[in-house]
Amino acid sequence: MFTKILIANRGEIACRVAATAARLAIKTVAVYSDADAHAKHVAACNEAVHIGGSAPKDSYLRWERIIEAAKATGAQAIHPGYGFLSENEDFAKACAAAGLVFIGPPASAILAMGLKAESKQLMEKAGVPLVPGYHGADQDPALLQREADRIGYPVLIKASAGGGGKGMRAVDKAEDFAAALASCKREAINSFGDDAVLVEKYVQRPRHIEIQVFGDTQGNYVYLFERDCSVQRRHQKVLEEAPAPGMTPELRARMGAAAVEAARAVNYVGAGTVEFIVEQPGGYARPEQMKFYFMEMNTRLQVEHPVTEAITGLDLVEWQLRVAAGEPLPLQQDQLQIHGHAIEARICAENPDNNFLPATGTLHAYGLPGHVTFERAPQGTRVDSGVRQGDTISPFYDSMVAKLIVHGATRAEALARLDAALAQTHIVGLATNVQFLRHVTTSDAFAKAELDTALIPREAAALFHQDKVGLPLAAAALVAHSLQAEQAQGAAVDASGWRDPWAQRDGWRSHGVSTRSFALEYAGAAHTVVLTTQRGAHTLTVGGDTLPFAWAEAAGGALDLQLGCQRVQVHIHRNGDVAHVFTAQGATQIVAVDALAHAGDTQAEGGRLTAPMPGKVVSFAVKAGDAVRKGQALAVMEAMKMEHTIAAPADGTVAELLFAPGDQVSEGAELLRLATA
Ligand code: ADP
Ligand code: ADP
Ligand code: MG
Repeated sequence: MFTKILIANRGEIACRVAATAARLAIKTVAVYSDADAHAKHVAACNEAVHIGGSAPKDSYLRWERIIEAAKATGAQAIHPGYGFLSENEDFAKACAAAGLVFIGPPASAILAMGLKAESKQLMEKAGVPLVPGYHGADQDPALLQREADRIGYPVLIKASAGGGGKGMRAVDKAEDFAAALASCKREAINSFGDDAVLVEKYVQRPRHIEIQVFGDTQGNYVYLFERDCSVQRRHQKVLEEAPAPGMTPELRARMGAAAVEAARAVNYVGAGTVEFIVEQPGGYARPEQMKFYFMEMNTRLQVEHPVTEAITGLDLVEWQLRVAAGEPLPLQQDQLQIHGHAIEARICAENPDNNFLPATGTLHAYGLPGHVTFERAPQGTRVDSGVRQGDTISPFYDSMVAKLIVHGATRAEALARLDAALAQTHIVGLATNVQFLRHVTTSDAFAKAELDTALIPREAAALFHQDKVGLPLAAAALVAHSLQAEQAQGAAVDASGWRDPWAQRDGWRSHGVSTRSFALEYAGAAHTVVLTTQRGAHTLTVGGDTLPFAWAEAAGGALDLQLGCQRVQVHIHRNGDVAHVFTAQGATQIVAVDALAHAGDTQAEGGRLTAPMPGKVVSFAVKAGDAVRKGQALAVMEAMKMEHTIAAPADGTVAELLFAPGDQVSEGAELLRLATA
């Protein structure tokens, strides 16, 4: 076995590989870019080497630098993770030439499976079932059109060199083919430098079911069962599970055997995944009618490998290391078993309600269920995370920040655990898909395992623009939290004896009744809520209703709220004027407007005006050279579906605008410079 390896990756997968290496007493070397100087994966390894600039091409894709780093640190092998260099046959060859072990398949297998068209020709020879289609070398547009007509519409045009859901076009009718072909080829040449395409039947309501395979250097192969990755957005996986709901032992054995044949055909070694598209002509309830076709082979460890680990009880990274070190496969096919059910959710910095636009910013709060290391928590929940609280999500890399993996005796149990784990995932500072994932998890279609790749678009009405908290509860949470903070502050000030905090309150008192109003912004609209207190009992008037209202501190920093007949535990994270409210039902944001008016004071030291939160610049009300007065509106930002006005903190002159309307800005970004007298 190796004594030291280099991990040529970042984020959660680098941390994941480091955890297994540590368990096996193998030392690890991290590599990092400028942006990752303080990243979690650097801390997770025993030593680290800086390899260049933030853009992947200047660091994580610079394989000469990475090989140099491995040699300089005495690493014997390189684990490429996924993405980056993991499917680069030149890198695999260069490792071998440098006397380093590439922890992955032979370069020849990467090459053979690297192009979708060529790999399909190979698979055809090996007797693996293929989607009816054309995957030849002749790329004459007229020929491609004839092939599409022969296959029958709808068809899918795919970039042969494509990946990550890019370079695909569905075509419904013959007249649209030529235009779609041209656009697919444009995207393919831009993204992959290769415009070869294949054309195949567009399978209706398909499922994506893939088989995890493993081979060793002695020519042994096993399959570690299947994963269902049908829940996708833009052809990219969102939720993955194992085993596939409705899978029969007979179909599993046939798909497993086909996947092993695919691996054997290219003399595969190590961990690989054979992806199948599965037609379900009989609908969801008829697994015995399912037909599977080879789609592609991913010649690396897959993002969703933890669900396989959960149901088999194995550590796939350990298997990779053992096989790469020349050991035989630890187990044979008849020693492998499925235990229970596992589901993985990919937590991404993105805004599902805005077409999954990736988000950047600082993680002000990052609360995850259980441990943030590779560990099987007792309650069947595992978190693989690549970031820590306070870290910044930069625009340079993938938007996936963590994965939640749950395991239960049954699918229903796993599903309930996933919902609970998502409810405990409190991320503040940038948009994430956490609430969206909860909506998918709790949707009827997903619960009933009515799975196909169109689940998200089909269920869109229940998945997007959902708010399960609502104004009354959000307002109650903010009011309770503000009063609690005031009381805490007041108590402290009181002790020093110079201020009675309750004397500071506005509103009025008469005959023992006091009222106090709060200005709020919720879902883009302004609201005023009124708190009325009489003999220690409160009511809250919100949205036209007046409801009995009480709050108390609960365990773990939560507040126990009672509003009308509702009693709810909430966690509140205050990020400036925005309160992030988390309940068991869902999460939302609400803005305290009073405080907003003063935001300029704290955010404008030294004539700098910075974005109070990540968002988009909507407009500037001024231009360079304008004289402005204190309190004058300077710019409008949009964040969290709301507009925020940035006001001048003092009289002065606008020196420079640093962004243009429409620009995305991260939190703390300087928007404009003000010269103050
Ligand atoms: P899977 O999610 O099934 O493992 P993907 O094709 O989604 O496979 O890719 C996994 C990861 O690899 C992605 O999240 C991304 O980080 C990376 N990746 C995939 N394709 C590319 C690519 N063309 N360029 C850079 N990174 C890629
Ligand atoms: P990538 O390299 O981007 O992962 P794949 O060939 O694996 O590309 O396809 C990605 C996804 O596109 C699949 O998971 C599936 O949802 C969809 N897809 C691929 N081929 C077909 C097809 N023939 N019919 C319908 N959907 C398909
Ligand atoms: Mg794929």
